Amino acid sequence: MRKHQVLIVGAGVGGSTAAFHMAKAGLDVMMVEKEQFPRDKVCGDGQVQGIHPLLKSMGVYDEIEKYGYKCSGTLFSDDREIQYTYNYPDGEFAFATPRYIFDDIINKAALKQGVDYLENFEATEVITRRGQAIGVRGIYDGKVVELEADLVVLANGSHSMLARQMGFYEEDPNYVFYGLRGYYENVRGLSDVIEFHYPNKLFMPAGYIWLFPLGKTKANVGVFITEEALRKSGMTSEELLWWWRDNYKIGRERMGEAREIGKLKGWRLPTGKHKAVHGSGVIAVGDAGNMIEPLYGGGLPHAMMSGVCASRMAAEAIVANDFSEEYLRKYEDYIEETLGSGYKIQEYLRSIVFDTEEHISEFIDYSIENFTDVQLSGGDGMAKFVHDVKGFVGSSKSAYSK
Ligand SMILES: Cc1cc2nc3c(=O)[nH]c(=O)nc-3n(C[C@H](O)[C@H](O)[C@H](O)COP(=O)(O)OP(=O)(O)OC[C@H]3O[C@@H](n4cnc5c(N)ncnc54)[C@H](O)[C@@H]3O)c2cc1C
Repeated sequence: MRKHQVLIVGAGVGGSTAAFHMAKAGLDVMMVEKEQFPRDKVCGDGQVQGIHPLLKSMGVYDEIEKYGYKCSGTLFSDDREIQYTYNYPDGEFAFATPRYIFDDIINKAALKQGVDYLENFEATEVITRRGQAIGVRGIYDGKVVELEADLVVLANGSHSMLARQMGFYEEDPNYVFYGLRGYYENVRGLSDVIEFHYPNKLFMPAGYIWLFPLGKTKANVGVFITEEALRKSGMTSEELLWWWRDNYKIGRERMGEAREIGKLKGWRLPTGKHKAVHGSGVIAVGDAGNMIEPLYGGGLPHAMMSGVCASRMAAEAIVANDFSEEYLRKYEDYIEETLGSGYKIQEYLRSIVFDTEEHISEFIDYSIENFTDVQLSGGDGMAKFVHDVKGFVGSSKSAYSK
């Protein structure tokens, strides 16, 4: 097979976004994927507002709006089961769209741009020559196949053995989360808000139980917990879900009579991007580059934004005809410019609010008294949220006000 300028491994949201923007910019791109679309992906299925401009830039917003369940706010409840709901400003909402549908729409948008594409291709290894990545080896149609490119983009998700081969793999048990997800019907007491429940210190730091409504009585329900906290809890993530259902009023109400649709599934979530994810001839996008946010576990905006950064990097490297590790270092700057401030805010919140159940309760009390409608993700809403959190930190009620 002929050599391409860029070879993208993995056609999920990150890979397909990168492919879309590269092909649109006139680059010669090959994308390979081990599954066949449409395919499922374990996820909470939440697409917060921060993702909307990215969907618009790919011309798929209207289609997602057609399939997505609209959520008008986010509810937080603490160990005392005191609840606080952020209502998004009028006309703003988050979507909950099953990934089987969502990812397929993004994938088809990339293909429409004229990307070369192979499904059922399982990449097994990055091929290197004198320390430089020059392509990928994989299994296709029962045979070993080698594909070459000037730049290899790893976008094959959080289990990526190729990212491990390149030294990008996140192993810190405080930043690798485990997610468990199931679909349920007959869930009681839902409204059209996303729910985050913080049952107690078992989940620290930053873990929670979520419900993303997909209908009046149907929801995507899951557990988000760090590897370290899971180890300390002495339970499995599934046992934690049932422990919450059996021991908390909201848990009993929501899940007491719920019926499972399909099976509960688990997945790995490497968060916070603490490592460099570029090498000679290679960069990583999305979960393969540990881009998930380290507080709420959102990874779709990060996969898409890093896909846009990868496209910019690829175009520049091709013009400069330079794929050296040194030249590709700029990719880290593009990620930092795009995602860096979000990571900083989340680290800050992890360390001062979501570190103990008392602090979460204190924050919820403060929110009920002081916050008006705040949008949690994106644009001015996020700036206001940070401003309000700073107000909390400086308030006489806050344990941190010294
Ligand atoms: C339980 C859970 C809940 C989550 N909830 C949310 C949420 O509500 N909102 C949100 O924004 N984010 C959420 N996330 C994070 C989000 O799912 C990811 O950040 C996002 O899917 C990352 O996209 P990606 O394209 O990087 O990787 P992926 O979506 O994993 O796509 C990788 C692609 O690569 C393919 N692939 C894998 N290996 C190979 C190979 N060897 N060769 C070829 N192809 C390969 C895969 O088949 C797949 O299509 C959640 C994650 C989990 C685990």
